[in-house]
Amino acid sequence: MARHIFVTGGVISGIGKGITTASLGRLLINRGFKVMAIKIDPYLNLDAGTMNPFEHGEVFVTRDGAETDLDLGNYERFTGIDLNQNSYITSGSVYSEVIAKERRGDYLGKTVQLIPHLTDEIKGRIYQMGRDNDAEVIITEIGGTIGDFETPPFVEAIRQMAVEVGRENTLFIHVSLIYTLPNGESKSKPTQHSIRTLQEYGIQPDLLICRTSHPIEEGMRKKISLLCGLQEEYIVEGLDTNLVDEIPLNFERQGMAHLVIKKLGLEDRPPINTEWAGMVEKLRRPKQSTRIAIVGKYVKGSDTYLSVQEALKHGGIANESAVNIKWIDSETLIDNQNFAEQFQGIGGILVPGGFGVRGIEGMIIAIRYAHENYIPFFGLCLGMQCMVIEFARNVANLKNANSSEFDPETPHPVIDLMLDQQDKSNLGGTMRLGLYPCVLKMNTKSYAAYGQPIILERHRHRYELNNRYRDQLESEGLCLSGLSPDDSLVEIAEVADHPWMVGSQFHPEFQSKPLVPHPLFRDFIQAALQYQQGR
Ligand code: GLN
Repeated sequence: MARHIFVTGGVISGIGKGITTASLGRLLINRGFKVMAIKIDPYLNLDAGTMNPFEHGEVFVTRDGAETDLDLGNYERFTGIDLNQNSYITSGSVYSEVIAKERRGDYLGKTVQLIPHLTDEIKGRIYQMGRDNDAEVIITEIGGTIGDFETPPFVEAIRQMAVEVGRENTLFIHVSLIYTLPNGESKSKPTQHSIRTLQEYGIQPDLLICRTSHPIEEGMRKKISLLCGLQEEYIVEGLDTNLVDEIPLNFERQGMAHLVIKKLGLEDRPPINTEWAGMVEKLRRPKQSTRIAIVGKYVKGSDTYLSVQEALKHGGIANESAVNIKWIDSETLIDNQNFAEQFQGIGGILVPGGFGVRGIEGMIIAIRYAHENYIPFFGLCLGMQCMVIEFARNVANLKNANSSEFDPETPHPVIDLMLDQQDKSNLGGTMRLGLYPCVLKMNTKSYAAYGQPIILERHRHRYELNNRYRDQLESEGLCLSGLSPDDSLVEIAEVADHPWMVGSQFHPEFQSKPLVPHPLFRDFIQAALQYQQGR
């Protein structure tokens, strides 16, 4: 039977529950435990697919095509585990299942209620995860903040689970804020209140992580221990850092894995895997550095392109290089302006995924600049589509070529709606989603990167390269280096006459991990470093 760890958050949102969950997963995996993770989002959305990435951050896609919260990306990167649709639970998904069961008559005339019907649905999904994966430990993170209107059914469900599986097999972790005033005085009162709220729901946390900008003083630890009913050693400091990858090491240093293992009655083994520490060492002491321009319609300050940023960092790890990002708002780019200044000191240009016409022309101009000046370029999904449009317009002389997504009237729809998308009217969950195979052509940059003929990558799109233009684009020098096994979809395009100009219809960033950097990101960063050295 699986042991259960539940992670809740106090005082503010965005406090680091996701990274805590991911880091704890890493520490247990380092000791050889089999771990699975679940994220609960108390929104009424069925999934994250229709959520605005500017407001909510990137939509992360699992291998089986679930559109989820970006925290699943953190879990996968830290633990190396491939999660699936069962790792993501929203209020919308549990409510809709309960309502569907009610319509089918599954409840046999009973009054359908939050308790027990909704809580049973929630518990059922968490238990199912244990049965499907024979995991030794399941870590479930409850999104939002304790005390929110949306969370009580989930908190009640996990309280009941502790009774059902036994308190000794359950561990409650609360991540809360220690606020430091401008005069330097740190305050634990908000944390005390949030623990009290948790206690009102019937949950006594076993371990507290204090997110803080200043080290936790001894006196503060004693006070929290006394007032909140936690042993002092179970109060872990979560000091701010600009390197999230360091957090598992910070927790390890405080003996967190040992405490968790002891509380859950698991076998106390020393860590057998120390790769993570070696990777962090590389990140801390890069031998060189490069600068990549991300040209998109959302810029710094949001987590819209989180996996892209992380994958670039991984490409850096593979080359023992730091990767700095220059954010360029594609809407501010106009033709004939001083590009040399905008792109000064840049080793490569990347255009990420996206939807809608806003900012597209700026992306295409940036791509032309990369193309004409032999600057390494990497296009992801929408970025690949824009790369094809640029090539069609400026090399193949297809005037006003475009994607029918941005210009339905274009004379040359070199990017067009996929056949199976044409009759879909709902926006949620209807794209081409998840893992698909792709066959690579020999003697291409893609083949050189992957070093194997067949690859599997994750997708999230409706449009694709229009097969009517394939021959013409190819004859002008666009290399279609990756195709679906039945030849019907172009998955990767490369500009043959360019040091490194590659666009993928899939999202390679979703599969990149710090311990296993993605080959395309590795080679893109390598090309960027070479470009900067040669200049
Ligand atoms: N909007 C494009 C499409 O639907 C690209 C999608 C993306 O970048 N994820 O095909």
